Amino acid sequence: MTKKVLVCGAGGFIGCHLVNRLVAEGCWVRGVDLKFPEFSETTAHDFVIGDLRNQSVVQAVVDCRFDEVYQLAADMGGAGYIFTGDHDADIMHNSATINLNIADACYKRNIKRIFYSSSACMYPAYNQEDPNNPNCAEDSAYPANPDSEYGWEKLFSERLYLSYNRNHGMECRIGRYHNIFGPQGTWTGGKEKAPAALCRKVAEADDPGVIDVWGDGSQTRSFLYIDECVEGTIRMLRSDCEVPVNIGSDEMISINNLVRMVASISGKQIEIRNIPGPEGVRGRNSDNTLIREKLGWAPEMPLKDGMARTYSWIAEQVANAR
Ligand code: NAD
Repeated sequence: MTKKVLVCGAGGFIGCHLVNRLVAEGCWVRGVDLKFPEFSETTAHDFVIGDLRNQSVVQAVVDCRFDEVYQLAADMGGAGYIFTGDHDADIMHNSATINLNIADACYKRNIKRIFYSSSACMYPAYNQEDPNNPNCAEDSAYPANPDSEYGWEKLFSERLYLSYNRNHGMECRIGRYHNIFGPQGTWTGGKEKAPAALCRKVAEADDPGVIDVWGDGSQTRSFLYIDECVEGTIRMLRSDCEVPVNIGSDEMISINNLVRMVASISGKQIEIRNIPGPEGVRGRNSDNTLIREKLGWAPEMPLKDGMARTYSWIAEQVANAR
């Protein structure tokens, strides 16, 4: 029988790629979002424009017993959005309300399987002060001390879904995403994240040129290409893994080295100017021990391959915008 799937946040970056993959697999997919995908037509069989903060919208969208629900909708953005403090009330209120509504509507339809997209931002800031040695093992989450309200909301919602599992026999699955990037992601306007912002800056720069980079550039991160994120997400939802698991790459790189990688992909000679700006924790890397153990799988694509695909898409957007 055809699987019926609901993707919440299907107009967003990850949601839109996830819908494509599920449709290609032969699932019947309904997407819901405040907006249609920005850079391509949705392939979802049904797409509802609706506000998931509104309980009656959620009840209307969750109108049958879906086999799988992927909950990706959230009020989010890059460092320029979540670390300035200016959007904290919106981030907490909007995302928590969405999750409260979806968990309950699924429970009342007897839907068991929900995938919830948490974030590495829920890990304690005190374990991410050394850029060369961050600790993001899943069991390091407590005592909790995320570095942003965005991270606190993720932690709250993880616990919400785990409570529904415990009290209502649901089988929610939680992935903690670490910096997902790729084509068709936000690349300008303030909500874009580091890989897209750096690709844009390099694509817009002269050759030779100079680009501004937030922080001293020695802060580290890992970045996961979108196709592997989608793969990990689907594997996680279909697994019997009851605990939250990292979905990320363990190829850690400093931000200045990421700029150098993008520059070499572009063929341009780029000088880096490090300037003050929101940068989040000093170091973060995915610890993939648990995902290997639980799913027998972990992401493996080299960062450079994903960055090359992303740079070429963003360079095209920049050229079209001129
Ligand atoms: P995105 O912003 O592109 O997608 C989120 C979507 O949710 C948007 O299309 C937005 O319109 C929608 N949305 C927001 N409020 C809504 C509402 N009230 N009703 C309906 N839809 C609403 O973000 P993304 O990068 O695709 O991320 C998807 C999920 O993964 C989010 O929950 C995010 O917090 C999580 N995550 C992403 C990353 C990453 O690097 N991209 C890292 C960690 C966690």
